[in-house]
Amino acid sequence: MIEVSLTPILIPSTEDGLSRERVGLVLNNPIIRRPKDEMSKIELSNMEDKERRRQIKIELRAKAKAEFESSLPMNRERFKGLFNYLNSVLQKEKCNEDHELTIWFLELIGVENVDEVVGWLIGNDGFCDCEVLANVEERFE
Ligand SMILES: [Zn+2]
Repeated sequence: MIEVSLTPILIPSTEDGLSRERVGLVLNNPIIRRPKDEMSKIELSNMEDKERRRQIKIELRAKAKAEFESSLPMNRERFKGLFNYLNSVLQKEKCNEDHELTIWFLELIGVENVDEVVGWLIGNDGFCDCEVLANVEERFE
């Protein structure tokens, strides 16, 4: 026969009195422990929740990526060229707080919807040439 003590045992390492008592009871009294199968059910549902949350996260990330891709007003190669161009010029010149360099480059490579691209850049926090480089480029990674 198992001797059961309902007297809480104080365990000094826990922070508050309440949890200290509970810890003491659980450790000391096998009867008030949750049955093994119930525990594994809880653990299982925790695992399922975790897996579900992980799955939702993956799906949201994929959805955001797809939305980003379909929002692009020109192809990735051209964006890459733009970022490289801005990077090399802005190492030597100061940003004029406008899209002068961006527009110049887009026209140079024959982009026809320059206004749309600049509007898209602004919508993605590229409010001037240096911000296109600082804020927009990283969204392509
Ligand atoms: Zn700037």
